[in-house]
Amino acid sequence: MTFDADAKMQFLFALRSRGVTDSATLKAMEAVDRGIFVQGYFADRAYEDMPLPIACGQTISQPSVVGLMTQALKIAPRDTVLEIGTGSGYQAAVLAQLARRVYTIDRHRRLVREARAVFDRLGLTNVTAFTADGSHGLPDQAPFDRIIVTAAAEDPPGPLLAQLKIGGIMVVPVGQSDAVQSLIRVTRSETGFEYEEMRPVRFVPLVEGLGKD
Ligand code: SAH
Repeated sequence: MTFDADAKMQFLFALRSRGVTDSATLKAMEAVDRGIFVQGYFADRAYEDMPLPIACGQTISQPSVVGLMTQALKIAPRDTVLEIGTGSGYQAAVLAQLARRVYTIDRHRRLVREARAVFDRLGLTNVTAFTADGSHGLPDQAPFDRIIVTAAAEDPPGPLLAQLKIGGIMVVPVGQSDAVQSLIRVTRSETGFEYEEMRPVRFVPLVEGLGKD
């Protein structure tokens, strides 16, 4: 399958019907071919609104969840965004359409290596991927205008909250890994953090330390 006019139309229709209505987000998702991020057996399902398996036992998120998280971030063109959980690199590539600079971290070397190759292939020069335990954030590049966590934590990790600018927004799935989690939007103000519960979601867990591969 290719991301031709028909596939795009159906893809965007499914996004809109699931609440992705922000035009900049829809445009960004139209510009990034999800098929490039899904290899092998499931490649022909890349344009369906479902999560799919990727290497290292991880998953590429459902497109509508990528869209809802992206629009919840309200990214401005000059923003620097940190993503925890590179996975396939798809979410980072979508963010890269909207932000000035994207840093993305995964605990699996292999996923980072493969995502970098895709960013190169797509000519995305404003995305930098690192292998690291993302629960510590990226102190060297902090603070960030926006932070997105695409793995579920029991609580929003403290170092990530600390690396969010005043006025910054973080989106993070919170809850036990084997249960339904809640997608939370955290906004930092001069006086503290405001938490908003968005919707139930299901993500792989945020795991401490580096992966074996
Ligand atoms: N955003 C991805 C999907 C993420 S799946 C995409 O668009 O394809 C969740 C990812 O979080 C997995 O790749 C997993 O390896 C990673 N992860 C889990 N715990 C982590 C941690 N502590 N630090 C960095 N990455 C982590």
